[in-house]
Amino acid sequence: MSSFAPTHLELPGWRHVYSGKVRDLYEPEDGRDDVVLVVASDRISAFDHVLATEIPDKGRVLTQLSLWWFERLGGIPNHVLAADAAGGVPAAVEGRAMICRRLVMYPIECIARGYLTGSGLIEYRDSRTVCALPLPEGLVDGSRLEPALFTPSAKAEVGEHDENITYDAVVMTVGDDAAAELRALTLDIYMRAEAIARERGIILADTKVEFGLDPSTGAITLGDEVLTPDSSRFWDAALYAPGQAQPSFDKQFVRDWLTSDASGWDRSAAPPALPDDVVERTRARYIEAYERLTGRTFA
Ligand code: ATP
Ligand code: MG
Repeated sequence: MSSFAPTHLELPGWRHVYSGKVRDLYEPEDGRDDVVLVVASDRISAFDHVLATEIPDKGRVLTQLSLWWFERLGGIPNHVLAADAAGGVPAAVEGRAMICRRLVMYPIECIARGYLTGSGLIEYRDSRTVCALPLPEGLVDGSRLEPALFTPSAKAEVGEHDENITYDAVVMTVGDDAAAELRALTLDIYMRAEAIARERGIILADTKVEFGLDPSTGAITLGDEVLTPDSSRFWDAALYAPGQAQPSFDKQFVRDWLTSDASGWDRSAAPPALPDDVVERTRARYIEAYERLTGRTFA
């Protein structure tokens, strides 16, 4: 779909190289090729469209929450080098940007699922499998999966939908050793984060992480964002009731509004601009996720 035309900031000392749905990437103008500036915008996507309306402070929430999680995932190499002006982040984007090791990203979305929902549920209803892994009969929307599953998908172009793939397809793309490590790291991250979130009354239903190879160390390194409402399904444990869709700490209000009669959206074109109350409630939801998980007040 071609409605995507993000605008990025001009940042002194940095050259823009790429914009994804949410993040803008820059490289140093001085020719250094081992670092990249990752700036989280306030853009929001839904149903594979980047929406025309931004959610104020969303970029800061994503970056601050990712940084909090990176710290808690000690032992797993990550790409963060600096995240403040003292470390070289341009003042215009301080708070929502990180200077990172430039990785050669694997073209795989590494997903771990501890609960059945979303695209996993659709595949399960069709074939009793998720990413071709067989599952028992009788599971419903929101059923717990024990142990959690590694359910990779292939990274799609902007506007396309990521596609679930088998573990064998990951092996074919990255080789045996890297595939095994990606799976082990992804499940380790999920299990550690699930336990931390649970202490805070939040169920981490599933999460997506992205890894790359750090050419300077040869290590498989965690990149991108981690364990944010954009990359993960967070559910309120107090409201958890399998057998139906669970309210989640993310784009719920946006999706609900877009699919309601009020939006008038028929999916054939780009979605309409969001009304102010949907923007405000979505902003509040992202901030609530940050505050509940970290125990900090969002400044
Ligand atoms: P896609 O990831 O397919 O571009 P997206 O819409 O999810 O789609 P964003 O998350 O907005 O993209 O953009 C972030 C991009 O930066 C991703 O392509 C991600 O793989 C890449 N990336 C993240 N961290 C690094 C890194 N340390 N080095 C190089 N690329 C990175
Ligand atoms: Mg992404």
